Amino acid sequence: MDKIDLLIEYIKDSKKIVFFGGAGVSTESGLKDFRSKDGLYNEKYDFSPEEILSHHFFMNNTLDFYRFYKDKLNIGNLKYNITHEVLALLEKKGKLSSIITQNIDGFHQMAGSKKVLELHGSIHRNYCMECNMFYDKDYVFDSEGIPMCSCGGIIKPDVVLYEEGLDGDTIKEAVKEISECDLLIIGGTSLNVYPAASFIGYFNGKHMVLINRDTTSYDNMCDLVIHDSLGKVFTKIKKEIC
Ligand code: ZN
Repeated sequence: MDKIDLLIEYIKDSKKIVFFGGAGVSTESGLKDFRSKDGLYNEKYDFSPEEILSHHFFMNNTLDFYRFYKDKLNIGNLKYNITHEVLALLEKKGKLSSIITQNIDGFHQMAGSKKVLELHGSIHRNYCMECNMFYDKDYVFDSEGIPMCSCGGIIKPDVVLYEEGLDGDTIKEAVKEISECDLLIIGGTSLNVYPAASFIGYFNGKHMVLINRDTTSYDNMCDLVIHDSLGKVFTKIKKEIC
């Protein structure tokens, strides 16, 4: 049986699906992968992206942080793709319980998904460090230099920077979702990014499926591995199920 057909069988048989996604979900929207070889991390900047996207760098070099942030993390006119779309449809059909994502672009919500656990935060939420006033992404990306609050405080994106901890409630909910689902689909991630790998240990359901272009060190932990584009896989799922 074709691997994608087998995944479709799994989806048909499942009552509670959780999708765990990484950067690869959004690269097919044209967004650059932070960590792939030809992605952000090999491009030239005075500092490494890990350095720039760290807590201490934000606090000490706020202007340089924002130069990089606005240049590299803005989704601009990019849109969600077929994978986001089909996941939203599966939720609507009552098949999919939640999406756990390492992405900060907000594409899942733009595609209509309701329950999205954003492990690394979102560029769509930004708060004044002084008065906690909310600002949307356009305010931040359209600002000159450092985005400032009307109170004079500096605005900080609700994005988990290096050296910062993940949100405790989000982790708790993600672990709960993974431990209760019967089908876990992992897509577009090599699972190298903390805490992805530790999460899948909580899976206790029937099938764990990995969809990723390249092989990962977790391939042998899954009972189905598809080395193909997410777009191709989810186009077929849409045709058969949605
Ligand atoms: Zn303020």
